[in-house]
Amino acid sequence: MKKNKFFFIWVLLLAIGIMVVITATQIVASRSQVALEQGNKQAVTTFNINNRLEELTSLSYALENKILSLKDKPRSKNTDGLADSLTQLGYNVSVLQKLWVQEAKSDRLNTLVKYINDQIDFSLKLSDTLSNSKIKPVKLIDSFATKHYGDSIYAHALAFQKELERSLSKNFENNNNTTQKLGLLNFLLAVITLLAVLILVSIIIKRQQKQLVLIDDLKVARRHALKSNEIKDQFLANMSHEIRTPLNALQGFSKLILETNLTTDQAKYSHIIASASNNLLNIVNDILDFSKIESNLLSIKKIPFILANEIATVQQLMQKMADDKQLQLTFDTADTDSQILYGDAGRLNQILINLIGNAIKFTSHGSIKVSVHTLEASDMKKTLQFSISDTGHGIPTDKLGTIFERFEQIDNSFSRQQGGTGLGLAIVKKLTLLMQGQISVTSQIDKGTSFILTLPFDTTISEQNPLIITDNNYIDPELLQHYTILVAEDNAMNQLLITQLLKKFNTKIIIANNGAEALQIIAQQNISLVLMDVQMPEMDGVTATKKIRATYGDSLPIVAMTAHVMENEKQKCLVAGMNDYLTKPINEVLLYNTIKRLLPNPAEHKKEVTVSKSYIGYTYISEVCNNQPEQINTILNTLIINIPKEIAAVNKIIAEKDYVELKRKIHHLKSTLSALDNDSDINVLLLQIDEHLTNSEQPTLLVDKINILIKELWICKQILEAKVTHQLIEI
Ligand code: ADP
Repeated sequence: MKKNKFFFIWVLLLAIGIMVVITATQIVASRSQVALEQGNKQAVTTFNINNRLEELTSLSYALENKILSLKDKPRSKNTDGLADSLTQLGYNVSVLQKLWVQEAKSDRLNTLVKYINDQIDFSLKLSDTLSNSKIKPVKLIDSFATKHYGDSIYAHALAFQKELERSLSKNFENNNNTTQKLGLLNFLLAVITLLAVLILVSIIIKRQQKQLVLIDDLKVARRHALKSNEIKDQFLANMSHEIRTPLNALQGFSKLILETNLTTDQAKYSHIIASASNNLLNIVNDILDFSKIESNLLSIKKIPFILANEIATVQQLMQKMADDKQLQLTFDTADTDSQILYGDAGRLNQILINLIGNAIKFTSHGSIKVSVHTLEASDMKKTLQFSISDTGHGIPTDKLGTIFERFEQIDNSFSRQQGGTGLGLAIVKKLTLLMQGQISVTSQIDKGTSFILTLPFDTTISEQNPLIITDNNYIDPELLQHYTILVAEDNAMNQLLITQLLKKFNTKIIIANNGAEALQIIAQQNISLVLMDVQMPEMDGVTATKKIRATYGDSLPIVAMTAHVMENEKQKCLVAGMNDYLTKPINEVLLYNTIKRLLPNPAEHKKEVTVSKSYIGYTYISEVCNNQPEQINTILNTLIINIPKEIAAVNKIIAEKDYVELKRKIHHLKSTLSALDNDSDINVLLLQIDEHLTNSEQPTLLVDKINILIKELWICKQILEAKVTHQLIEI
């Protein structure tokens, strides 16, 4: 700031200096111009005067001679010559006087003119005398001779000429001085201009140098920022790893404890532990997600999914939270179908869970309504609009613009009581934008809040396996009983946890304490799949995987298990040759699905259209319809139309916890689906639920099974649609 001021003063002084010198130069130049013009004029006048003076001198001598010669010559002849000389003399005097207009009266000139006029007067007098008298005026002529007019006029003319010359040379001298002054000023101007240019150039160079230094500093700062960003990411990754490992144990064991016989207090405390660890995991996930988004590390996936399935999952997850607060949670999903969409269903769920979670959190009584409808549909794209409305406390108008900013929370006691990091909506907004969608909010204090989310999804069906249904939460323990899974994990707590989880799947489990031990076991036993922890003493998971790949090739599936959640960690595992990646805390369903997908002979375990015979049986329907495809399709189409209605009805019953109605509904469903063979998976499941209801099991367990049923119903609808569309029924 100070330097800038100095720079400004410098430039101002220079500008003033240049202006002063230019003005002075202009004044002196114009003066010298005037003087030069005057000098020239004076020189010309002097030249003309000199000529006249010479003429006058010679005329005066001629007149004098003529008069003096009158004494000897006859009278009449000479008088004419006298008149001529007098006329010329008079003319030259008047010219001389005219030429002398520019100067003040000169004494020398006056005396000269006086002499000439005297000579003329005398001559006129003589001429008069001559013409009037017959006698020669000898006396007059003699007295004329004594006057020596010629010499006097000559002497005065000479002196006057000298005077003129002196004045001329003085003027020339003055002109010379002015010209010299002008030259000096021009030189000064050139010097100052040069100085100004030099100063300006040096200032520009200095500034440029400063700019270059600043650019260098900026580069260094950028490098530092990138480095500190890397450090921050690394720190976050490490921190999340450190927090996730104990969280994994907390979550897993509290879940396992809850499945044992507990006293009421024990169950209550275990629930608290489970819910607290869940909250903590959500916070860690939020912080990580936000950091990933900020560092542009979060990418949006494009994988096939069925919207109805995702909505059902979200509904399952949120229902309990709403029930706990005795809030009514309704889903208007009439507009959702089983069309396959392409996009990041995981992130869609995250957004919805966040918005519904907030709606539940900030509503004390009333209801939360979630609705989905298609805003626009074309051959390639489908734009969905989700609306999440609550009857909660509302958001003040002046806060509506800021709640999507990080760490923004409404500052009132109710909001503060609810806790939270203030990152949820910031993540929601960023994810929405990453998915090319939009989100807006309207709210009224004490009336409620509405979030409107618009998201576009692709609808083009990819060539490969369009109808493989992934992310199926239904766990069939029978499927995995013939396999041996090797768990390479050094942490005793995690060993115990994963053993408990795998026990449910009926697989044989072998534990290795590190990579080296895992290699030994693989060499000795027939292992179907390895669950490999990444960080282990002696030999880490990445090294062990590389060795396994080098010795046995690609046949043995290896799944990484790590508390690291950063993308580069995942890449490291995949590059080393691992087939997939599971983050801790291990999600039971994800673990099951991953194992199921990777175990040898996966065709047996995937629910594809081509293998759907084992999933849904059509023998009965074929017999009834006499193997007529059209009739079979008519019945299947009726089923396809009815399944979503049945799902909606089941959801409603579950929301209302009306278990009597549920039993009636299950019976109704059994008759709806009776067209399918009795040994079809869906019918077997219905039978199991019916038995549970009859034996009046714990409602929570029943809710889990109903959720599985809803998923299975969607899958069933999907397969039926595929059959109807592709005429794939093989009976
Ligand atoms: P937090 O972790 O605090 O929930 P969010 O970013 O999800 O952070 O939300 C920011 C703030 O916006 C909340 O603290 C709350 O004050 C306000 N808010 C969000 N959703 C609602 C809602 N449905 N009703 C009332 N207030 C809400």
